[in-house]
Amino acid sequence: MVELVKFNIMNEVYTDLEDHKSTLTLDEYQERTRDTWIGEHKVERAFLGLAGEVGELCELRKKWLRDGKVDPHEWYQGEIGDVLYYLARIADENGLCLGEIASYNLLKLKSRKERGVIQGSGDNR
Ligand SMILES: [Mg+2]
Repeated sequence: MVELVKFNIMNEVYTDLEDHKSTLTLDEYQERTRDTWIGEHKVERAFLGLAGEVGELCELRKKWLRDGKVDPHEWYQGEIGDVLYYLARIADENGLCLGEIASYNLLKLKSRKERGVIQGSGDNR
């Protein structure tokens, strides 16, 4: 279980995370993202938002490699959350369920491991 703690990201302090602890399923999370998903061009914005947030996550790692001064792990939580938000929006806008996607992905990887093809390349292993 991941322990959520009080944290401060980009001057936003989150202190009331108790109701969002591990009891929140991916499908529930996906549904809740609808509350904050407003505006036009939703599908396009979801894809562009994902690209931006993946970039921010990678940027943290790059700065850690370059500077090595600040442990970025506490920042990862926020950026991974941002990535997850856009993944949820892409799934939702396309009528897909994030929980189902996660379950299928685990089954796929388990099967690959059992068949000795987890290394290598290609989607259809
Ligand atoms: Mg971000």
